[in-house]
Amino acid sequence: MNAVVDTDRLIEGLGPAYLDLSDRIWDMPELRYQEERSAAAQIGMLEAAGFKVTRNLADIPTAFMAEAGEGGPVIGFLGEFDALAGLSQEAGIAEKRPVAEGGNGHGCGHNLLGAGAILAAVATRDHLKARGLAGRVRYFGCPAEEGGSGKTFMARAGVFEGVEAAFSWHPGSFNSLFPSQSLANIQAYFRFSGRASHAAASPELGRSALDALELMSVGVQYMREHMPEKARVHSAITRTGGLSPNVVQDDAEALYLIRSPQIPEVMALFERVRKIAQGAAMMTETEVGITVDKACSNLLPNTVLDELMQAEMERVGDSGFDDADLAYAGEIRRTLHENDIAAVYQMFGIEPEAEPPLLAGHVLPGPRHDLILPGSTDVGDVSWQMPVAQVMAASNALGTPFHSWQLVAQGKSGAAHRGMLFAAKTMAGSAARLFEAPDLLARARAEFEARIAKTPYRCPIGPEVDLPFRRGAS
Ligand SMILES: [Zn+2]
Repeated sequence: MNAVVDTDRLIEGLGPAYLDLSDRIWDMPELRYQEERSAAAQIGMLEAAGFKVTRNLADIPTAFMAEAGEGGPVIGFLGEFDALAGLSQEAGIAEKRPVAEGGNGHGCGHNLLGAGAILAAVATRDHLKARGLAGRVRYFGCPAEEGGSGKTFMARAGVFEGVEAAFSWHPGSFNSLFPSQSLANIQAYFRFSGRASHAAASPELGRSALDALELMSVGVQYMREHMPEKARVHSAITRTGGLSPNVVQDDAEALYLIRSPQIPEVMALFERVRKIAQGAAMMTETEVGITVDKACSNLLPNTVLDELMQAEMERVGDSGFDDADLAYAGEIRRTLHENDIAAVYQMFGIEPEAEPPLLAGHVLPGPRHDLILPGSTDVGDVSWQMPVAQVMAASNALGTPFHSWQLVAQGKSGAAHRGMLFAAKTMAGSAARLFEAPDLLARARAEFEARIAKTPYRCPIGPEVDLPFRRGAS
């Protein structure tokens, strides 16, 4: 009997219960650090499967860990389950129609992500048991991937220590390895305080926080010409100081998000932005308070695990989309722009096909080590603690943008379910290989240790930074 086929068969058998879990989580979209019901649903399944659950990990009520197995090495599976604000959308249709106006929605497919990673963890544990192999699997329930860097706070608390390698996945347009590099980032609030005054009667007495905010923005604009090429600085104004032009605004705030391929570059840019803010405060005789919200590290690639996962993906083969999947994808396709389709090809560094398939059930060649995710993920911080590899599984109509109503609409579709099973087979197959071939795990570890030896991990969130949900309104 072939070992890897064992895990596929286990996943086929266990699959329906976990597809149902994913659908249930889709039905209760919860935002960063508020995922109580989604975490409880996952914990329920894990306990029923005989996993020992540790709650309140890193002092985060919706972070948890579940372990099963005996002795041997520890292999981790990373799961997410948070939704996005403003993306409420009915499932299974091809037009924009919210379930609840202004409500949340699973716009990044994290309902599938967590359930699929649990499915892989349970199948791997069953496989170890059936084979009489020593080894432990740990599922990490990781909240707040969207704008909360839950895993970075978890890494700061040391919860990933003792895990020798980890796997995860993300739903997307293609079956491919997830880009093995990403951008590091830091996000911080800049809040200016001035002095209110009647803008016509006594303007000389007023000191405008809003002026300071605008000057900061001008300063950052001038900085942009002198940044590393792949660096990005984004901002949102979170307090305007009021709606009255005839009152000098005494309170204004912006949230800045700074990204670059490496953490030291991010920190250097953050220092420059801090100086610009202080300069703006000095010019306007206001005060500025700076509060770091969150940060995350860039992904560290691991060639050994990437090659393992690529081989497993190719072994699993095609996603097996059926006519109903294709028909629905065809309806979604009509709502997409050609640039949406071009963008997913660009992300994977491949030439767009003349007639892009509605669903890409095939496996892209790889591993490709030149790809950098044009965004950030808090999996980055886990990848500085242990070798990590991730796959992307085709789960929606090719070209569906992340964080779109179209992605929410497809979150419970046949294609989404097939994508989740494909990912679970790839992850469980890869983990089974690591347990069965200690030399493979040793090589992945050696590569990881060599990378870390050059630049040891330093959590980009310092000990002074409070958990986001503990901070009062900033
Ligand atoms: Zn995501």
